[in-house]
Amino acid sequence: MRAPAAAAEQVLAAILELAPGGVEQVDGDDHVEFALYGAPGELPALGEGEAEVGGVTVSVRGQEVPDDWAERWQRFHRPVLVAGRIYVRPPWEGPAVRPGVEEVVIDPGQAFGTGAHATTEGCLELLVDLAQQRRARGRRGSLADLGCGSGVLAIAAAKLGFSPVSAVDADLAALEATERNARANGVELERVERVNLRDDRPPGAETVVANLMRPLLLRLAPRLVELAPERVIVSGLLDPEADEVVAALGPGLTERRRVSSRGWTSVLVERAGAQPTAR
Ligand code: SAH
Repeated sequence: MRAPAAAAEQVLAAILELAPGGVEQVDGDDHVEFALYGAPGELPALGEGEAEVGGVTVSVRGQEVPDDWAERWQRFHRPVLVAGRIYVRPPWEGPAVRPGVEEVVIDPGQAFGTGAHATTEGCLELLVDLAQQRRARGRRGSLADLGCGSGVLAIAAAKLGFSPVSAVDADLAALEATERNARANGVELERVERVNLRDDRPPGAETVVANLMRPLLLRLAPRLVELAPERVIVSGLLDPEADEVVAALGPGLTERRRVSSRGWTSVLVERAGAQPTAR
């Protein structure tokens, strides 16, 4: 799918709804190409030629590719150091031992979440920040990762001291990847379960992380509020979409911190009077 560079994030946001497993992105000079891989019948039926995706006219082309598409992800999986505290790396990169840095080894398989996406990084940064405040007070709390993908956030949270940690996703490949990655990182996750966040009741926790996208977050917001978490980290939002989702979680949960990178925003909202409050 080829889109004008200026509309890349808009198109990507729409594609990720059609294909929550993610896409491969190749930047050209004035355009961007997104490649979606899937078995026959798994891909959105857009046909060939011009199509409208996320309100943008794109050109669509399809071809049969060898069955190794899952491995092709490896090229896009690079280590990232977040907030000087969490180092997320693929198993095929060597460890980088640094004092005070927690290492999270992630083999995404066919699930989303290498750690390198701006939305994942945003969540990790907010989690590191929370863990630092909470550690200072000697309190660790429960955490639920909604839409866990590879499990990167749940595993990082467990390593940062959150406990117990649960992780849910609608995608079986994501649950398998999460279980496998948790074992490889030597962390214990309390629940790893299939939950469809469009309709099912999500697990509750003191801290809830939801790196999803705007439409799903808006739909989920009332059920999330019912669970009465102390705080929620929402991500997967284009910068201009964040206010609407924060408003949907209010007024009981109010914005505490927002980070933005490469056009993507992650927000921490917290219940009034939640401990700890000061920043
Ligand atoms: N938490 C990971 C992955 C985020 S991608 C990270 O931050 O990197 C979003 C995840 O949400 C995907 O794994 C996708 O399968 C899952 N997802 C999308 N729609 C969902 C739904 N309706 N119910 C449950 N999970 C969903």
